[in-house]
Amino acid sequence: KQKGRKTYCFFELEMDAQIQSQRALELDLRMAVEQQQLELYYQPQVNTLNHQIACFEALLRWHHSERGPVAPAEFIPVAEDTGLIIPIGSWVLRRACQDARKWPENVCVSVNVSPVQFRTESLLADVKSALSTSGLTPQRLELEITEAILLHDTLNTLTTLTQISQMGVQISMDDFGTGYASLSYIQKFKFDKVKIDRSFVSDLVCSKDNQAMVHALCRLCISLGIGTVAEGVENLRQLRLLEQEGCTNMQGYYFARPMPADQAAIAIEKQTHYIRFDNS
Ligand code: C2E
Ligand code: MG
Ligand code: MG
Ligand code: MG
Repeated sequence: KQKGRKTYCFFELEMDAQIQSQRALELDLRMAVEQQQLELYYQPQVNTLNHQIACFEALLRWHHSERGPVAPAEFIPVAEDTGLIIPIGSWVLRRACQDARKWPENVCVSVNVSPVQFRTESLLADVKSALSTSGLTPQRLELEITEAILLHDTLNTLTTLTQISQMGVQISMDDFGTGYASLSYIQKFKFDKVKIDRSFVSDLVCSKDNQAMVHALCRLCISLGIGTVAEGVENLRQLRLLEQEGCTNMQGYYFARPMPADQAAIAIEKQTHYIRFDNS
């Protein structure tokens, strides 16, 4: 009994510590937003046929003055719990459109939209204002949403997706196959692209199961006229397999890691860097 009580105490202390560190992170994040310490990095998505940069995905970076870099996986959930994701998400949209405006016309930018942000009234207005203030053509903006968005309130979700789509903005489904994957989702709404989750790609060369999944997904998307983006491409063997499957776009460390906006502009000028013929 005594041991049980001790264990209970231990859990309670640990939970306290966890709550406190979450709270500290929340306060720091508020400050970071106010003091504009957040930054966007960009990772290219290359066209499989010509290996040219088709798009850059905007990825949040936070360099904390004491903690150092804090990963999105750590601070995005805090931002979602506290509602901070709304001002952050609206800033990301504006910043990404402004940066993309400086790139050539054929290069798009894709922005991750949190389910919390998606459910707010302000999303449509935020997208419109980001486009009009930057002067970016709607067709060059892409929103990445996850399956989680489609779980609740399907009717409202479909209405919002349709409104965004009617503006000319592209919609892609991020991390496909990780969540509550139901194939009917990509049929309910006509997504422009489906992103094949990194978990299928990382093991692609060795796992027959993952090869089967990628094969089926690529076939399905080709039949439905939906583009595919493979996430987390790290080597040439993965690239070759994805090419064979007719995957339309690829993203991953093999091509480039996420980089600051000024480097993204340089990367577009030096496109030849993205064509690799080595056998690594
Ligand atoms: P995501 O949207 O699936 O983004 C892809 C993640 O995979 C990024 O991690 C990227 O750096 C990483 N990655 C890309 N290529 C490779 C590779 O070849 N190997 C490996 N191991 N990783 C690779 P990151 O930047 O840490 O972002 C993590 C997640 O945080 C994102 O996943 C996204 O869900 C979320 N996130 C990032 N920025 C934003 C944002 O502006 N708004 C929202 N709502 N979420 C964001
Ligand atoms: Mg994404
Ligand atoms: Mg993803
Ligand atoms: Mg992912």
